[in-house]
Amino acid sequence: MARKFDGGKLVIATHNSGKVVEIADLLAPFGADLVSAGKLGLPEPEETGSSFIANAELKALAATKGSGFPALADDSGLVVPTLGGDPGIYSARWAGPSKNFQSAMRKVEDGLRGEKDRTSRFVSALTLAWPDGHTVSVEGTVRGELTWPPRGDRGFGYDPVFVPVGYDITFGEMDPVEKHQISHRADAFRKLVDLCLKS
Ligand code: IMP
Repeated sequence: MARKFDGGKLVIATHNSGKVVEIADLLAPFGADLVSAGKLGLPEPEETGSSFIANAELKALAATKGSGFPALADDSGLVVPTLGGDPGIYSARWAGPSKNFQSAMRKVEDGLRGEKDRTSRFVSALTLAWPDGHTVSVEGTVRGELTWPPRGDRGFGYDPVFVPVGYDITFGEMDPVEKHQISHRADAFRKLVDLCLKS
């Protein structure tokens, strides 16, 4: 049973300031008093889950238990069926500690060489957790095809090789306003808003 968020303080369980800004924009209409886990000095748990939702849940639960306030966490990545679902929950790790996404995109392309099926999807899991351990989780997706070579420098991560269904440009070439309307994160947020934030 989905529980409603009834206003007040909400912890954004990420230490990534870019994500805090994006989430704050999306939550602006709901009157939450947002504070980031980084600002509260909460430790960042290791992402030991075996699915996007498991990782979002463990981050949201760590933040709500550590702060005493409801907490929202996300986990996302690129899923390539031809690669058995990789890089999936390892999407950030494929880029290594230096966050080299040129090399991560090349690794995906090397795996796809000679393969006909170049379909893929971005996935975003979101979990809202309460201090009593109750959680609500949703998953959003956007489907597309992988192209090579990478095109565009407007996005981040794997954006330059991802052409969403119905488009002939990559996320890296797309106006960010348009990307944010059709992205996996937008899809997940719409689902969470329907479940927990609409009165
Ligand atoms: P995390 O959700 O912070 O664990 O990291 C997810 C990783 O997935 C990012 O580092 C990116 O590599 C990739 N990713 C997630 N969403 C996007 C997106 O919208 N565009 C490109 N790459 C993404």
